[in-house]
Amino acid sequence: MANQSPEDAAIEHLRALIRIPTVSRADESQVDAAAFAEFRAELARLYPRVHTLELAVVAGGSLLFRWPGRGLGDPSVLMAHYDVVPADEPGWTHDAFGGELLGAGAEQRIWGRGAIDDKGMLCCILEAVETALAEGVAPASDIYLSFGHNEETQGAGAEAIVALLASRGIRCGLVIDEGGAIVEGLLPGVEGPIAMIGLSEKGIAGVELIAEKQGGHAATPAPNGATAVLARAILRLEAHPSRAVLPEPSIAMLEAASGRASGARGWLYRHARALRWPLARVLARSGPEQAAVVRTTRAVTRLSGSAGDNVLAERAAAMVNVRIATGSTVERAVADIRAVVGDGIRVRLVYGSDPPPVSRREGPAWDALTRAIAEVFPRTIPSPYIMIQASDARHFTRISDSVYRFLPFDLTLEERESLHAIDESIRVSTYLDGIRFFRRLVELL
Ligand SMILES: [Zn+2]
Repeated sequence: MANQSPEDAAIEHLRALIRIPTVSRADESQVDAAAFAEFRAELARLYPRVHTLELAVVAGGSLLFRWPGRGLGDPSVLMAHYDVVPADEPGWTHDAFGGELLGAGAEQRIWGRGAIDDKGMLCCILEAVETALAEGVAPASDIYLSFGHNEETQGAGAEAIVALLASRGIRCGLVIDEGGAIVEGLLPGVEGPIAMIGLSEKGIAGVELIAEKQGGHAATPAPNGATAVLARAILRLEAHPSRAVLPEPSIAMLEAASGRASGARGWLYRHARALRWPLARVLARSGPEQAAVVRTTRAVTRLSGSAGDNVLAERAAAMVNVRIATGSTVERAVADIRAVVGDGIRVRLVYGSDPPPVSRREGPAWDALTRAIAEVFPRTIPSPYIMIQASDARHFTRISDSVYRFLPFDLTLEERESLHAIDESIRVSTYLDGIRFFRRLVELL
């Protein structure tokens, strides 16, 4: 189409990419490799200038482009992933892989799996870089575009990209990946939009609790069998949650929001640092989301006992999924569990990774990010926070101290809840603002 505006072209590009079902599955034999290959071919058709840049295909499908800069300053990394979670759940009111464009004005939307997570962000980056290349813009320093193909199944793509950059001796300045969005109403009493910038994320561990006892026939059970011992240990864990602590980025978040809150809440947020202990205790009792912010959480997810209905368990085991708060470690979390469950239970660490370091809240990368936010979203205040979920970005903390998890989309609660659920969609105005954000950001890097 000769007379298509850049905005219309950007909309058509996202729609076309949503139509290619790049669904990640835990069982890799169920992954449609042809869809991923088709997606990469379509990217090359839609973004020809980006595809003149040096490209490395890593770990069987993750893409790393290098956009050369004018100088030798620290390179930046713009991240996204092009796999999506399945859309098998019933109740979609639109074709999950149809890329429908519906509605008008402020409510015009693009529908489908990946519209927000994360093909929307992928397209924003590509649109911004493609138009900058067309206009002959070159960044001050190198910019890498890092597009993972197995983020949703915690695959090795991003880790392999980091290993490749590290092997070239590269240290990065700004790294930006999906994460917090621009939201309203998240903090009680705070007016106006807040840009939630994830400075870190929680660590994760799998810890097995094991009780071992004499087995035998279920017709003649002795007291304190393996299952009873295990059950009591699980109840002790639930009765003794880990200590609530307000992490530093959360204090900074409340302080940042305090200017937008009036009355008692404003006073409380302003004094978050002095009141960190009582605030942590209040948050820990305010609901699962709030509690997850202030403490290491433990969830018993899998139980196993004997193999037969009439067989006493010689071994009863529980898997505890542990999400480790910033400031703690895997080692500390396991020691705490050991102390709570007491003797008679074997505690075994199956896997674990510490919370990554907290990124800097100052310096050129932070300044460029917050300036781009202020210019493109003028009513918005930037606020740090700790992400509850694990992200691909954590791998980059190996080679950068400025790793930010931020999705430059203003999203309603309903839109946030559509991620990994039914009826994912993005407002066209939100998408176009995201493109403007990346265009401004690359000029500031
Ligand atoms: Zn995602």
